[in-house]
Amino acid sequence: MTNGKTSAERIGFYICHCGVNISTTVDVTRVRDAMARIPDVVISRDYKFMCSNAGQDLIKDDIRNLNLTRVVVAACSPLMHEPTFRAACEDAGLNRYLFQMSNIREHCSWVHEDRAAATEKATDLARAAVYRVRLHEPMQVSRVPINPTTLILGGGIAGIQAALEIANAGSPVYLVEREPTIGGNMAYFDKTFPTLDCSACILTPKMVNVGQKKNISLLTWSEVMNVSGFIGNFKVKIRKKARYVDTDKCTGCGQCWSHCPSVRIPHRRTIMLGPKLVINQVRKDPGRLIG
Ligand SMILES: Cc1cc2nc3c(=O)[nH]c(=O)nc-3n(C[C@H](O)[C@H](O)[C@H](O)COP(=O)(O)OP(=O)(O)OC[C@H]3O[C@@H](n4cnc5c(N)ncnc54)[C@H](O)[C@@H]3O)c2cc1C
Ligand code: SF4
Ligand code: SF4
Repeated sequence: MTNGKTSAERIGFYICHCGVNISTTVDVTRVRDAMARIPDVVISRDYKFMCSNAGQDLIKDDIRNLNLTRVVVAACSPLMHEPTFRAACEDAGLNRYLFQMSNIREHCSWVHEDRAAATEKATDLARAAVYRVRLHEPMQVSRVPINPTTLILGGGIAGIQAALEIANAGSPVYLVEREPTIGGNMAYFDKTFPTLDCSACILTPKMVNVGQKKNISLLTWSEVMNVSGFIGNFKVKIRKKARYVDTDKCTGCGQCWSHCPSVRIPHRRTIMLGPKLVINQVRKDPGRLIG
């Protein structure tokens, strides 16, 4: 559907049937006609498969023939086809960022049954995309060098695995753990649900691996104090807490723990594993909590 409007922007609007994925639940011709009435929308079309070559050609031809300055496609998730339509725009000479996608499949037709209400919602989503695209500005892609070093907060199984993957891919990693040891919750389990695999058998080789990797700097008993900067160029201030032992010589045998005269506070996990231990201890001696 075309209209003879002339205005600041020349927007092309396209709504996809996705076969029947969208058109069964959303009245696409109704949405198409509603968009055609918006000032700046100079062409409003519906098509069976917008991502097909024929669908992309529709957009490209309109950009060239109607001098479109903005494009909106109401279809599926941008995760799926935003790059497709951006590339089509670029192919026809329109800056790829003067494009906006509206997700009326995952956010609308796939999650609603009432056709009238779904059509109304799709119209609102499409209208929002048209209003938004007016505000877009052309941008250029440029490549800048970044610092590939990665900082991972938390040395549970997730942090450990992430550190190993990144280190194996060749980038330096700082793994920061606020407790004296990595391992996280998994270090306290006997078996893992639901497979009942031996937890330690999975975890300990990975912990050892972290310790051995040359490009992983392990900072246990440490906390992040400040983060500044931006993607690819962060600056992070980390407080490494005092250990009071020579960590190069300490084997972690634990002998000193039972003789340590200092007041001990309950370990976070002692509380988590059950109130009995801590509560009993508090009753005995409210001033001293044993972990
Ligand atoms: C009692 C219990 C039983 C469970 N059983 C199972 C099971 O059988 N199967 C299963 O799949 N899952 C189970 N889970 C869930 C399980 O915890 C997770 O699957 C898994 O251990 C989570 O790993 P994670 O690395 O994401 O987090 P965590 O193991 O919690 O590790 C997070 C780590 O980050 C550290 N950390 C947190 N904040 C900071 C900070 N600001 N700075 C530095 N370090 C920080 C913590 O000290 C910790 O070491 C269970 C959880 C609990 C509590
Ligand atoms: S653009 Fe998306 S919604 Fe349209 S046909 Fe392709 S996958 Fe389906
Ligand atoms: S007694 Fe064992 S755990 Fe304690 S400092 Fe000496 S080597 Fe380390």
